[in-house]
Amino acid sequence: MVRVVDERGKGLGTALYSSSSQIAIRMLARDREEISDLPALIAKRIRAAIAYRRLVVTGSDAYRLVFSEADFLPGLIVDRYGDVLCVQILTQAMDAEPVRGAIIETLVQELQAAGIVERVDPRIRDLEQLGPRASGLLWGQKSSTTITMNAGDANCANPATGVRFHYDGLEGQKTGAFLDQRENYALAAQYAHGNVLDVFCYQGGFALHLAAKCSSVTGVDSSRPALEMAEKNAGLNGREVEWIEANAFDLLRDYASSGKKYDMVVLDPPAFAKTKRDLDKARSGYKELNLRALKMLGPGGIFVTCSCSFHVSEADFLEVVGDAARDAHKSLRVLEIRGAAKDHPKLLNVPETGYLKCVIMHVND
Ligand code: SAH
Repeated sequence: MVRVVDERGKGLGTALYSSSSQIAIRMLARDREEISDLPALIAKRIRAAIAYRRLVVTGSDAYRLVFSEADFLPGLIVDRYGDVLCVQILTQAMDAEPVRGAIIETLVQELQAAGIVERVDPRIRDLEQLGPRASGLLWGQKSSTTITMNAGDANCANPATGVRFHYDGLEGQKTGAFLDQRENYALAAQYAHGNVLDVFCYQGGFALHLAAKCSSVTGVDSSRPALEMAEKNAGLNGREVEWIEANAFDLLRDYASSGKKYDMVVLDPPAFAKTKRDLDKARSGYKELNLRALKMLGPGGIFVTCSCSFHVSEADFLEVVGDAARDAHKSLRVLEIRGAAKDHPKLLNVPETGYLKCVIMHVND
């Protein structure tokens, strides 16, 4: 922990320091807060993060419990998947043994978990000059389970029971799922109809939420393990979805040029701009995908298009989608412009905490 002062020596607050990261300090508290015991502060912040989720999450037992800076716990991510918790530790300070101890102890005390899994990102450990560490169970016995999303939402499949997914804490991308889209799944389901194409479908998040209201759903992803899980998830919900393993760019090019039509298309690609340098490349990637998708939509169609690149702002993204619409000769009505679900809080004065854009549109002609 270090004290941070401005150029005149006026105290700004307390931060966590990293000796190796480009982000040398991450603010932890304002100056008025006296901090002597870091583990105790971490425990208090985790309890506050849990309390906030009780306010903003309903009908789902899978959501982000702790979101780093947005929960005033820089470098810590905790996702809840039913009775399995998944922890990611991203900084030197959070990796310190007393802090690790406080994290686990607080989670065990506050939640009825059967297992706590740690997912290690070796690239981050390298950047923070932390020794190697394997992913695995930190506490308890259980690392896989089934979870429920959006129960009680009349627009989704099985409104009473919600949409269910298998979860394996030691497999899959990110901490296992893309929880940030949870509210957008339900919102997209509100407009779902006809034949749907879910591109970059991963384990079927959008596809399975839309299936109840659609005559056919096709999910596309380049990851075979993701599609195998998607198929198991379809079974869990009693749905039939066609899964196609393909490079989405190639598939969209073929489909668009052969005149295939859909009533609804979802695009949720991985982040194209990981750094500011990638921005131009990212914009042309989004433009191409959106253009091809729009060519497959006729009047009355619904287009759900997403970007999770922080460096592509909402304004940039809308401009790129607008260019694609112009080139495709389509007029679109904006139904929704959304970000991540509320369990991924966005701090008013910390723009870095907002990154996801999900735009839902109605094709006029
Ligand atoms: N919509 C998903 C999340 C998508 S994440 C959900 O809600 O859960 C992005 C996905 O794109 C990942 O599943 C990844 O496997 C896939 N992907 C990455 N590059 C791809 C490509 N070129 N073609 C098809 N899929 C790709």
